[in-house]
Amino acid sequence: MFARRLATLGLLSLVVGMSWGDSRETSASEMVVYFSADSGQSPRVLEYMKRELGQIMETAGYRVAWRETQGARPEQTAGPLIVARLEGICSLGAGEHVGPAAEQPASLAWTPVVDGHVLPFSTVNCGNLTRTLAPMLAGEPVARRDFLYGRAVARVLAHEFYHILLGVTEHAAEGVAKSCFSAMDLVTERFEFEQTTLARLGKHAGTGAEAGADEAAGR
Ligand SMILES: [Zn+2]
Repeated sequence: MFARRLATLGLLSLVVGMSWGDSRETSASEMVVYFSADSGQSPRVLEYMKRELGQIMETAGYRVAWRETQGARPEQTAGPLIVARLEGICSLGAGEHVGPAAEQPASLAWTPVVDGHVLPFSTVNCGNLTRTLAPMLAGEPVARRDFLYGRAVARVLAHEFYHILLGVTEHAAEGVAKSCFSAMDLVTERFEFEQTTLARLGKHAGTGAEAGADEAAGR
């Protein structure tokens, strides 16, 4: 068996301009996310992460149902099932200092690929994410930091979910499914799946998001 970290999300120094359309769906297919994290996480960051991830996946035709990994019972679900984990502490507290960002692009998250199959297990590297975000968040009030950090984690996880849901290792040219994020992508006001990816995910979800994406693209 050959395992590799092919579906790894790195970091770009480029900032890419993007456009968005409103493609909120009224119907959605449920996806179950079993979530775990190293102890010591900020509850506020996790709250913002869940809210943002729910919104991003909703545009793609999925409704996220969160489950705790610990003590979870096996359940039957017709939709996709993903295990997500935060490794390290995903927050930047007041007065907290971190080392300089690595000169090489840092891996923010990864999902294993075995024998060409993308497995439904995603891990976020909170240490690398913190080093990436620290320069942008350092001047922000703590409450705002938590919000921006939570949203960044959501964007990173949404990228990995894209790989898992479609079972693909390739990337889109833009949006959440592109191969590398810039630090600005992580903190900017709006950063979502672009229309082509939304259409693919919506088709996969079978909820008609494809039509919504087409409508939005045609505006
Ligand atoms: Zn990727």
